[in-house]
Amino acid sequence: MQGYCVKCKATREMKDVTYTQASNGRTMAKGTCPVCGTKMNKFLSKDEAAGKTPTKAAAPAKATPAKSGGSSSGTKAPKKK
Ligand SMILES: [Zn+2]
Repeated sequence: MQGYCVKCKATREMKDVTYTQASNGRTMAKGTCPVCGTKMNKFLSKDEAAGKTPTKAAAPAKATPAKSGGSSSGTKAPKKK
């Protein structure tokens, strides 16, 4: 999965990619720049998101998705069909 590193100002193959669902329902890929280690993220198109299962907070201790927006109201079942 490729993403844009703002620090390198270049497109890089992201490391440690995880998929999360953004508050607007879109799927995001999050990763790390293999060169400088900067966090990268990228919104996926519908096509790209197909088959990518958002990994939802299976983190052991720190499960605090402290990033923009504070509407984490429980578990929302992904709309299918
Ligand atoms: Zn970089």
